[in-house]
Amino acid sequence: MRVLVVEDEKKLGELLGRGLREEGYATDVADQGEDALWMARAVPYDAIVLDVMLPRVDGFEVCVQLRGAGIWTPVLMLTARDAVEDRVSGLDVGADDYLTKPFAFEELLARLRALTRRTAVERPPVLTVGDLRLDPGSHRAWRGETEVDLSTKEFALLELFMRRPGIALTRTQLLDGAWDMAFESRSNVVDVYVRYLREKIDRRFGCDSIETVRGVGYRLRTEA
Ligand code: CA
Repeated sequence: MRVLVVEDEKKLGELLGRGLREEGYATDVADQGEDALWMARAVPYDAIVLDVMLPRVDGFEVCVQLRGAGIWTPVLMLTARDAVEDRVSGLDVGADDYLTKPFAFEELLARLRALTRRTAVERPPVLTVGDLRLDPGSHRAWRGETEVDLSTKEFALLELFMRRPGIALTRTQLLDGAWDMAFESRSNVVDVYVRYLREKIDRRFGCDSIETVRGVGYRLRTEA
């Protein structure tokens, strides 16, 4: 899952970015509305955490412009005050949910999960492909009855495969989906992590579910 955080308070932006990365979200942080607009157009984010109070182009305006451009990425707005007008305006311009500052990080996580689940019908709480199971909420994965211990990046990669079983995914798609912008120049990082993932979900179980598609990338077989 890839998330964009838009927050002009440097410390809070960094804190959210770090916290979300630790939870396995590939996270980019923008500190102004103008940047958020081009980033949201360029990258298929799964969700945007958008502060209302931004200099120049504020959160409401960002939301209006995104929706106007046909970009329907779920938006969670951060409102500084517990003002009814702010929340109503946010929902009116196309935000999906809001959170009042200050908030508990756990609540932000729970709302992000709810948001990405409810806005996309193809996102059931637990993903199943063959005898692989993955639960994005609890960050757990299983091969058959055996729980597999995955790092956050391995987990993010497996989640991407399991959301598109049987489809060849390019290295760029995998990179875009599981890594934030800081990693975009390192294309071999995908191959490295696919190797780790194969070791954990396949080799140990005598399976061969992640297939190399020559000249394209990788595909998760629908049959184990
Ligand atoms: Ca702000």
